[in-house]
This record gives sequence, C-alpha cells and structure tokens, in this order.
Amino acid sequence: MKSLLTVFLLAAALPAAAAPAVRNVILVTIDGLRWQEVFGGADAALIDKDNGGVPEGAQAALKREFLAATPEERRARLMPFFWSTVPAAGQVFGNRARDSRVEVANAENISYPGYNELLTGRADPLITSNTPIPNPNVTVLEWLHGRPGYADRVAAVAQWRVFTSIMNVGRSRLPVWVTDSPLPAGPVSPRLRELERWMTDIPPIAAGEHFDAFVYESALDHIARLKPRVLLVAFGEPDSWAHARRYDRYLQAAQRCDRFVRQLWEHLQSLPEYRGTTAVVISPDHGRGTECHDWTSHGKKIPRSEETWLAAFGPGIVPRGEREGTPLVVQAQVAATVAALLGEDWPAASPGAAPPVPGLLAPGR
Ligand SMILES: [Zn+2]
Repeated sequence: MKSLLTVFLLAAALPAAAAPAVRNVILVTIDGLRWQEVFGGADAALIDKDNGGVPEGAQAALKREFLAATPEERRARLMPFFWSTVPAAGQVFGNRARDSRVEVANAENISYPGYNELLTGRADPLITSNTPIPNPNVTVLEWLHGRPGYADRVAAVAQWRVFTSIMNVGRSRLPVWVTDSPLPAGPVSPRLRELERWMTDIPPIAAGEHFDAFVYESALDHIARLKPRVLLVAFGEPDSWAHARRYDRYLQAAQRCDRFVRQLWEHLQSLPEYRGTTAVVISPDHGRGTECHDWTSHGKKIPRSEETWLAAFGPGIVPRGEREGTPLVVQAQVAATVAALLGEDWPAASPGAAPPVPGLLAPGR
C-alpha cells in the first residue's frame, strides 16, 4: 500500500518537475549592448579620451571599478546579477570566443528592424529605418493579448518613443508606456503622473529618450496595477551613451540595467502571482562596431554590428549556463521562445515565424 502511494505521488510529481509551470514572462531588451561587454566586461582600450570619450579625471576610477585580469572577473563587475544568476538558472548564447553565435536576421542592424524581428519572429525587408510608422506586422505580444487568459495582462514599458509604433498601439490596443511622452488624458496612475512630472523637470538624454530609471519605475507600476503575464521592459541608455561616445556612461548604464533586472526579479519573487512561475528572457536589438572608431555605431555599413547575444533564466528553462559550440541563433527566435515558455505556439499562429531556440526550453514546453 505504501509503495503504491509512493508510486502515485511520484507520478503526480514528475510532470511538474520536468516542466515547471511558467505563467509569466518578463522580456527585457537592452538596446545596443554588445556581446563583447556581456561576455568580456569592460574593454581597456576604450577607457580613454580619444576612443571612449572618457574624461581624463574619470579614467582611473573607471579602471578600478571595471577592469580585472580575466573576462570572467570583468563581466562579473559589469553585470554581477546576470553572471551570478544565469549560469545556474538559465542559458546564455552569443560568446564567439566559445563558438556560440547570435545574430540579427534583418539586413539593417538598427533598432526598429531589430525589435520588429525580435517581437514578430521574422525580419521584414520593408522595415529599413527607425521612422515611427505603425507596424504592419503583428507582434507575439499583440497575439498573446488576444489569447485566453491574457486579456489586459500584456504590457510594455520602454525608453524609446518608437515602441508605440513598433507595437502599433492604434491596432493592438496594448498598454505601451514610453519615456518623454505625455500621458493620455483622463484618469492615470498617480505614480505614472509623478514620473511624468520628473521627466518634464529633468532634461532628457535626447528628444524621445529619457533615462532607464523611469522605465524601471514604470515597470514596477505596471506590475502593481496590471499584474501582466507578459511584460516587455525595454531599456535604452547603453545605446544612447555609445552613440554619444561616452564609454564610461555606457558601462555604467549596462551596470544599472543589470541592477534593475535584479531588483525586478527580487520584487517578482516577493509576489505570489509571480514567485516560481516567472521566466526572464534578455536580448539586445542589434550589435555595434568592434573597432576603436566605430564601436559607437551600428547599421548596414558597420561591420559585425549584426552580432548579438541572448539569455534566459527561471522556470521552464534548462540550466545549461554559458553555451558553447551551438548552432547559430537568430534574434527572430525570441518571439517563439517567449510564447513557448507560456505553452503557446507562435509559429503555428504566424507561419514563417522562426522556431524557439533549441535546447533552451525544458521538456513539455
Ligand atoms: Zn543605436
């Protein structure tokens, strides 16, 4: 009798152990953060005035903070949460020093084509610029929003104003919050109203690009109010500072993004709706140049700016850590991966969309 009961309990426990139920996915994007820094940490050749635009007086402190003897030590200084969490609880692709490559599938190596690819599962050859035209393509978020159990539980918060167009809010009706834009008229969350006041009083980095701190605060507000099952958190400062040739601020922005992800993760683990049932997927939207003169830029004419990286951790993901010797992964695979974590089949709904990243998802996902 006892052994039968044991067998029964084991049988009941097995499927859950093989495939933990993922109920929520947080998709984090970090605009233009290079795989070179993610895997190798700060580049000493860019901590200077000419190449990195680092003011003389700031160089010594920056070197003390970010440089170390090995890539493993340097990257742990840049992204301590990422490197203490992902190897044990997930996977990361894209370290070319270990024969793992991730690339964009689009030909442009810029943001709108990159986010369109990442969110729809395929490159669109007609999207060739960052012009904020309403996206003719349906994103996996818009599709999930119409699935049972997801109504009003899908949202996006972003540093870059163009996300309103990428997500085609006029058609998708998704709640998409972006920095440096006025809130809609009518009742709105007091916290977002306060963020708007701060954004009005603090000068932005550039028109349409405010600080990632506002994105983080807005993410907390959206989690509290909407309890989203799918939340896109799109950080942007690393790209802004790289374009400005400020390697010091680029590094500090990457380090802050890592801290924001840690704080979001810790917050989610304190909420019963999210604890143990939330997976995180992290991706950039494009790479950047690799030389001292062109690390600041990216695009068709910048060699190797198609090279990216991809990470995921949490329930539903096989903990294989830093991957080596993998087949090429493309950014288009992110959309189906997010859907598959939730038990949804995006390529079936959107023929031609790239499949989930192989070897990433636990059996049954
Ligand atoms: Zn850029």
